[in-house]
Amino acid sequence: MRWVRVFQHPNSLLVGHVRNLIEGAGVVCDLRNWTLAGGMGDLAPIDCEPEIWGAPQDEARARAVVEQWRHDAREESTPGARLSRGWRCQACGEWHDAHFDACWQCGQERPAPQR
Ligand SMILES: [Zn+2]
Repeated sequence: MRWVRVFQHPNSLLVGHVRNLIEGAGVVCDLRNWTLAGGMGDLAPIDCEPEIWGAPQDEARARAVVEQWRHDAREESTPGARLSRGWRCQACGEWHDAHFDACWQCGQERPAPQR
């Protein structure tokens, strides 16, 4: 069986996290280059990045997990993401999550997003 690489990243903590997500989705996967992660220097970085490999029949599922994670990570890491998703009532100053369309406290409608 030929395994396929579904993810790689220089940050081994992050790779471990993604592996947990993939395994959580029921996909059997394997870590490679894990022990080399701290030994960068002589090797080109790309050669010793930790990698996640999965069985070919699980590739699509594993990639879907990675894509979802990338999407989530992008939202979390974008400066101001939290503020752009949430909004503040202009009448009473209460903070709300993005999915609220009106202030739960005073009923003021959500202000138009500022761009
Ligand atoms: Zn309000």
